Amino acid sequence: MSSEKEYMDLLERAYKVVTPKAQRRAEIPKLEVQNLPRRTVIANLGQIAKRLNRDPSHVAKFFQKELAVPGMLDGDALILSGERSPKVVEAVYERYLKYYVICPVCGSIDTLLQREGRIYVLKCTACGASTPVKPL
Ligand SMILES: [Zn+2]
Repeated sequence: MSSEKEYMDLLERAYKVVTPKAQRRAEIPKLEVQNLPRRTVIANLGQIAKRLNRDPSHVAKFFQKELAVPGMLDGDALILSGERSPKVVEAVYERYLKYYVICPVCGSIDTLLQREGRIYVLKCTACGASTPVKPL
C-alpha cells in the first residue's frame, strides 16, 4: 500500500474533473473593446455572436440595455454612445454569458437560445438541459 500512489491517483481524478471546464472557458472569445472620444466600440461583436451561436442583434441589445446607451451595429463592430471602460464592458459580457450562453447544469457554451411561445429557453447541446431565461 502506497499513500503516494493513492495521492497521485486522487490528483489525476481531480485533474480530469477540473480540466474540461477550464478548456470550455478558454473557448469563450474575448471582447475587443476600443475607446474613442464619446464612443465605445466592440470591434469583434460579429465574430463573438457567431462563435456563441447568437443573433448579433441580441448581444448588441443586451449591451445597450445594461450600459443604458444607444448603439448600432456596423459590420462586425458594435458602436456604443458614450465612453465606458473596457472593464465595465467586460463585466456586461460576463453577465450575458451567464444569463444567455453558459449551460447552468454542465457549464458548456455549446448552447442554443430558442423561443418557446413567450419564453426563451437555453438548450444545451452537450448535456441536453433546457433552462428558461429571462427575456431581453
Ligand atoms: Zn449542459
